[in-house]
Amino acid sequence: MQLSQLYSHIIAQLEGAHIDVPDLEARIILETRAQISWSDIIADGDRVVAPEPLKLIEGDMQRRIAGEPLSRIYGQREFWGLNFEISPDTLDPRPDTETLIEAALKAYPAPETPPKTILDLGAGSGCILISLLSEWDEASGVGIDKSPEAIKTAQKNAISNNVADRSSFKTGDWGRGIDQKFDLIVSNPPYIANQIIKTLSKEVQNHDPILALDGGNDGLDAYRQIFSELSSLLNVGGRAFFEIGFDQEASVVRLAEESRIRVKHVHHDLAGQPRVVEIYSGDK
Ligand code: GLN
Repeated sequence: MQLSQLYSHIIAQLEGAHIDVPDLEARIILETRAQISWSDIIADGDRVVAPEPLKLIEGDMQRRIAGEPLSRIYGQREFWGLNFEISPDTLDPRPDTETLIEAALKAYPAPETPPKTILDLGAGSGCILISLLSEWDEASGVGIDKSPEAIKTAQKNAISNNVADRSSFKTGDWGRGIDQKFDLIVSNPPYIANQIIKTLSKEVQNHDPILALDGGNDGLDAYRQIFSELSSLLNVGGRAFFEIGFDQEASVVRLAEESRIRVKHVHHDLAGQPRVVEIYSGDK
């Protein structure tokens, strides 16, 4: 089969399974499984593809059509232009979470000094902390997660993205037992109300770890816990950024106010949904 035919064939199969962005996914399959780039597809469409990758690609497509995300099939996901390994114990990093990275970077416009110390609560694959460390050369950070397996994955990602010397990942229960204060705290905690989980897509329900999704009866348990610890973890003049669900702006802001935490801004994602709550700890 020729490359251009293969590309169209993959797109048609994915489209038939109602996958949202079939052309993008077809390109990821070709790139990851057969090292065929987008420019190969455009410039070298007549090339005949060898039978061996074809078989593998067919297998990947069947799994994808059955509801497994490509990131789970390949065990990796691009986030903030970096490559992250993921595992069954880590949430699959979402483009929505890049809103948090953008918001944090925007809070320290040059020539303002970027934060020196960063804490990531519920770090998962480590994608938030590692992306921020890749932007700020002088910063160092700690990532906490309940899952020892997630910690191992995050450590590998810190090595592959060249920030291992400025990061450490440890198991823990949110901020409990941490006796250091940080300039910046970030978190994408589990925020799905538990009765909602069964209504999510099968990609999420069957492949993201429940620990990374389940926010308790109203989805707010993690924020309650983190907000109660925030003043002992954040330096004066420090900032915190929390991802929230699209319908949680009012409830998370209320919870923050009840905990005497000052919400500076709520940032919206590319779809226009409220996605990140920015907190400022007070005047220096
Ligand atoms: N954004 C994820 C989803 O909607 C949930 C992530 C989370 O709970 N932090 O599937």
